[in-house]
Amino acid sequence: MSIYNFSAGPAVLPQDVLIEAAREMTDWHGSGMSVMEMSHRGREFMSIAADAEADLRELLAIPSNYKVLFLQGGGHSQFSMVPLNLLGDRKSIDFVVTGHWGKLALKEAHRFAEVNVAASGEDSQFTTIPPQSGWKRDPGAAYLHYVSNETIGGVQFPYIPESDVPLVCDMSSDFLSRPVDVSRFGLIFAGAQKNVGPAGLTLVIIREDLLGHVRPGTPTMFDYRVHADADSMYNTPPTYAIYMAGLVFKWLKAQGGLKGIAARNAEKAALLYQAIDASNGFYRCPVDKPYRSQMNVPFRLPSEALEAQFVESAAAAGLVQLKGHRSVGGMRASIYNAMPLEGVRTLVRFMNDFARNNG
Ligand code: PMP
Repeated sequence: MSIYNFSAGPAVLPQDVLIEAAREMTDWHGSGMSVMEMSHRGREFMSIAADAEADLRELLAIPSNYKVLFLQGGGHSQFSMVPLNLLGDRKSIDFVVTGHWGKLALKEAHRFAEVNVAASGEDSQFTTIPPQSGWKRDPGAAYLHYVSNETIGGVQFPYIPESDVPLVCDMSSDFLSRPVDVSRFGLIFAGAQKNVGPAGLTLVIIREDLLGHVRPGTPTMFDYRVHADADSMYNTPPTYAIYMAGLVFKWLKAQGGLKGIAARNAEKAALLYQAIDASNGFYRCPVDKPYRSQMNVPFRLPSEALEAQFVESAAAAGLVQLKGHRSVGGMRASIYNAMPLEGVRTLVRFMNDFARNNG
């Protein structure tokens, strides 16, 4: 039986990438070593890291005035690293809060700065994105922070917000799922464990003029410039995770790049939402249609008892990790880049059968 893994992260990786990594596990390209055993300053690993960066730059068409950093510490570290580096001599930060992760980032930033909630979807239980025309921006804010895809609520921005000050985006859960114009951003960050590779690697793309303004007293490891000046080798980087990310980038290029993968992601999401919407209310997705996520699809059933039964029967059918986040309950199907179309088709067939038998 095929297993389809709908986990929100760490998440499914492309089968071809796993097979290639397995093949190279004990002997990378005749080096006689696993990538895990290599010095990060050796010729072999330096070439792996350089290739990974070059492929990422190509995929996203990253302009030359942006640095790409391969860091650690996850999105959670970015919640403090961003304000420590980008606040400069300003006092406040604008936040657009569309779910759990934006709220958490705001809470952390509040340790260092005043925070202005320019807009929040909380009144609607985070099921929509307030229109940009009504956002109440602070003219003195250092930057605007938003989350392009809220992983728990399944709310995704279909556009890039307008901003005169640097735009900071937490792209953890939709990074590399569609083309984006990097030049619109001051900084993008993303944990790897959804669309990029194993947990333990955090990607940061930062416009060069934002480097070098770190708040006095900031720990060295939290200064973007330190990492930029050292080509992300100031300390020992997560070498194996970078190697895996590099394989994923090559796989993405073979899928037709971000345009190719975006088309497949749209097809998968449409199939799943169509199954929900055509179920006569048996399945319900609470999210406002224009803002429904193409990566994380939350849905409810008529009762919690049926939801528990759904999770159990789905797992028995090889469809695993469908339970929603503990804070919101219900179901959540995460359908990242590496989830095959067949996985979504199998889930939809299962959902239709389950509704017929229990409706
Ligand atoms: N931001 C978003 C959008 C996320 O989905 C997550 C994790 N699921 C985080 C931040 C936090 O990432 P980490 O656990 O790697 O610190």
